[in-house]
Amino acid sequence: MQDMTRQTGTPIATIGQMPMLTPEQEIESRAKLIQALQMTLEPNEILSIFFKHLQSIIPVGGIQFRFANNIDITKLGRDALHHCDYRLTTDEGYLGEIIFNRGKRFNEAEQTRLEIILGALIYPLRNALRYQSAIQMALLDPLTSLGNRAALDNALRRELQLAERHQYELSLLMIDVDHFKLINDQHGHSRGDEVLQAIANTIANVCRETDISFRYGGEEFVVLLRKTSEAGACIIGERLRKEISKIAIPQNSQSIQPTVSIGISTRASNQKEHINHLFDRADNALYHAKQTGRNRVVSSSAVA
Ligand code: GH3
Ligand code: MG
Ligand code: MG
Repeated sequence: MQDMTRQTGTPIATIGQMPMLTPEQEIESRAKLIQALQMTLEPNEILSIFFKHLQSIIPVGGIQFRFANNIDITKLGRDALHHCDYRLTTDEGYLGEIIFNRGKRFNEAEQTRLEIILGALIYPLRNALRYQSAIQMALLDPLTSLGNRAALDNALRRELQLAERHQYELSLLMIDVDHFKLINDQHGHSRGDEVLQAIANTIANVCRETDISFRYGGEEFVVLLRKTSEAGACIIGERLRKEISKIAIPQNSQSIQPTVSIGISTRASNQKEHINHLFDRADNALYHAKQTGRNRVVSSSAVA
């Protein structure tokens, strides 16, 4: 069951400029719209196709779509004084709110027409949102909500291409929890999981941009730093190391205080470097951090 709840309607006897269609034309136009909306699984493209079609039928200045997360908003066309809002809901829940704008009020006939046309939008939009959320889930680590290894592979490829094209430096931080096996052995696996979550939160807070931090493996994390020199990456690495060493997870009368070792590699702005090589250099630096006592940051140039 679909539901479109009208939020504010402002019916008034204004003569609209709606083209009058015969019932056959109406059916044909709706079929065309449905077909066009099914050509993509990208929500913004769907909204854009819908808006273009709508403009050929009802004079609308712009539309806004507020996604159910209450964060993302798509705006097409112009904002205007008069608006007509609908909450779009299916059996599976709330999809978002759509707002139609224009300079003069929507009359009753136009609102009825809007509602009919909205009926064609709901399911293609729901399918696209469902698909998008499945894609996002597939790239997220469920324990920490950081990007997973597949997300890192995508991001690293993209970031290296950008760094090459625009000739800037790119740094990679490889972070490994010290003696994590011991934490699991002493306090249990679920306590170990809590430690990983606390470390992931600290990484996300220190690095702010969540899409550059990844859980690469069990107790290994990677952070990508765009336009960041080796010296800059060392400062951030050191800040991360310090913040993580402040974590204290209560356990009986004591607390679990994890530490991490960090290996850093930097791609020079004027140098081509394969992903694997950048990775191996950070891994090698991490190995040295472990060998020289753990709870420390080592950059690859220091061990080359
Ligand atoms: P090092 O300082 O040399 O890195 O020592 P370590 O003990 O951290 O290294 P090792 O690679 O021997 O151990 C990693 C441990 O991480 C072993 C594994 O059981 C644990 N682990 C991997 N994934 C998870 C997870 O998702 N949750 C928990 N609790 N433990 C995990
Ligand atoms: Mg490890
Ligand atoms: Mg470890």
